[in-house]
Amino acid sequence: MARRTFVVDGVSFSVDAASPGLHIVATPIGNLGDITVRALKTLAGVDMVAAEDTRHTGRLLQHFGIEAHLVRYDEHGAAAQRPRLLADLAEGRSVALVSDAGTPLISDPGYRLVREAREAGAAVHAVPGPAAPMAAASVAGLPTDSLLFAGFLPARQTGRIERIRELMTVPATLVFFEAPHRLAEALADLAAVLGPREAAVARELTKRFETVERAPLPDLAARYAAEPAKGEIVILVTPPAATGPLDEAEVDALLAAAIEKLPVSAAAADVAKATGLNRRDLYKRALALKS
Ligand code: SAM
Repeated sequence: MARRTFVVDGVSFSVDAASPGLHIVATPIGNLGDITVRALKTLAGVDMVAAEDTRHTGRLLQHFGIEAHLVRYDEHGAAAQRPRLLADLAEGRSVALVSDAGTPLISDPGYRLVREAREAGAAVHAVPGPAAPMAAASVAGLPTDSLLFAGFLPARQTGRIERIRELMTVPATLVFFEAPHRLAEALADLAAVLGPREAAVARELTKRFETVERAPLPDLAARYAAEPAKGEIVILVTPPAATGPLDEAEVDALLAAAIEKLPVSAAAADVAKATGLNRRDLYKRALALKS
């Protein structure tokens, strides 16, 4: 049986066995010092730890001197791995679910496991902690009273523009994950559809090269087109109301993005719905832009 201990700064702590059920445990998004005491107690106290990448989590556990029975629970094998975990839960075992970084289920595996564990009557416990969207929102300096976490934008431009258009009227700060090699194109599409809204790019949070840049979307798009980004990235975009009434250039940007995909009348109707502006005026302007 595992020793049920963890070590912080050379000091060893013994913990009780974790209660039966599924424990959803957040882990650091960079800085190992961000792990919570409860996460350590849980990881040291459970019968098994289900991890997206057992080698990656193995290193985290080793850092804290935790001996755990590691099993895999990843996106590709989840359907095959789930029945075994549900059987363990049904037999009264305690299972911790972790992802490579941050909070499981937040653009990470675990949704079906949590759902089916609950349906089977198992206890499901949150052991909250780091999550990149919240860390980014807390330092970006953009409005945070209402946030919409939208995960990753589609990789292909057509799908990406469509998704941004769906979100353009949402009265909340939008929060996206993005891969560094797609950052410039994502910012360009965000600028084309949303106009010069203020936005932020939060990179490598809690790590050595953490940076947060805040600027209008077109400026960020130009900056990252000129100098590609590295590392892990969260993009945040202010809600439409925060930028005040739209100016002509913003309306043109919205229309231009819309007529790329739609007939002129539908584009005008869409932008009218999104902005509350007069549809006939928008139609005339869209025709002029098209020609
Ligand atoms: N579940 C994780 C969480 O709670 O943060 C997110 C997992 S998602 C697969 C990974 C994405 O989160 C990365 O591509 C990046 O967009 C974002 N991310 C993770 N760590 C980050 C960090 N330290 N700084 C900025 N973004 C980060």
